[in-house]
Amino acid sequence: MAVMTTAHLSDRINSLPTSQTLAMAAKARELRAEGKDIIGLSLGEPDFNTPDFIKEAAIQAINENYNSYTPVDGYGELKEAICRKFKRDNGLDYLPNQVVISTGAKQSIANVCMVLLNPGDEVLLPAPYWVSYSAIATLAEATFKEIPSSIEADFKIDPQQLEAAITDKTRLIIFNSPNNPSGTVYTEDEYRALAAVLEKYPEVYVLSDEIYEHINYGEKNFSFASIPSMYERTITVNGVAKAFAMTGWRIGYIGAPQWIAKACTKMQGQITSGANCIAQRATIAALDAPVSKIQYMIDEFKTRRDMILGLLSDIEGFTVNEPKGAFYVFPDISAYFGKTLRGTAIANASDLAMYLLEEAHVATVTGDAFGQPDCIRISYAASEKEIREAVRRIEEAVI
Ligand code: GLU
Repeated sequence: MAVMTTAHLSDRINSLPTSQTLAMAAKARELRAEGKDIIGLSLGEPDFNTPDFIKEAAIQAINENYNSYTPVDGYGELKEAICRKFKRDNGLDYLPNQVVISTGAKQSIANVCMVLLNPGDEVLLPAPYWVSYSAIATLAEATFKEIPSSIEADFKIDPQQLEAAITDKTRLIIFNSPNNPSGTVYTEDEYRALAAVLEKYPEVYVLSDEIYEHINYGEKNFSFASIPSMYERTITVNGVAKAFAMTGWRIGYIGAPQWIAKACTKMQGQITSGANCIAQRATIAALDAPVSKIQYMIDEFKTRRDMILGLLSDIEGFTVNEPKGAFYVFPDISAYFGKTLRGTAIANASDLAMYLLEEAHVATVTGDAFGQPDCIRISYAASEKEIREAVRRIEEAVI
């Protein structure tokens, strides 16, 4: 009988870390299946249903027999809807040949990294950053370099830090505002100051991940590509998962210089052949709708944010910035490092996240996964009742 050994797997997969967001969600599911009452606050997934007008567009597409391969880069009608959306919401002028639709924003990001990066190139990641950026850069055989930030600076980097991090190997920087996991939102002035640095380094490209654009409780989202000097070297990534409660439909897209869009199309032509046809038809309805149609979800997320911030402020040892967008809080919990809670030694954020899962039955994600080892991420894309109960359990467990 053949012996199964990871030694027979590629170095590529053996050196790839498991997605911690998905791993924690899987662990929570497992424990629930064993009968444990787990509150899952690990996954960034709206708990709303996809709005009816989007579901109806999908049903209509099925009835109209949309079942064949789509163009690799997506239906022309959807690309036009995306161009209208970019103009309406972001003031960005993209033509359909600058747009590529993919199987989720995650694939959009992977395409961009695969087509822009060579072995040894460097990707700059302002930390904290979403778990998969570093993993995807690694898959593309690039290296990644974190630019640290602090809770005092609202988890933002400044122009001096950016300039100090750039080397002659730097090829890409990934911005994500509103940010997963910190909820930080860069202002137009802050982005312009960072762009002024990048103007000196024309070989550095920018991936601006704007997937949380609409889940924003303050100033309107500012798109990095709307800075004229940055337009030709910025790839704007977005998708429908978060704002339209469509995580499982898997539709993401980019607006990019045409040569990059063309390369991404070539890449996915060999990997997925394009995104799901029914989900693409439904996305036309989603993007053509006024943002007011999804405002009820954004309002609800804001109510929950205010609630969880209030509840966490009562727990000694949890220090939280005020997230301006997305649906996560990212408390600094380093006050617990070196302590023992109910017989469990807490040396780091992973220990605390695991302890909270096992003792409080609340799933969170360690900040290590996001390049910020003093914090844990708590998603508040859950019901008020679940959030209240989760924080009550957390408080009880850390006293
Ligand atoms: N982006 C979400 C999160 O950070 C979904 C899971 C994932 O793809 O990482 O939780």
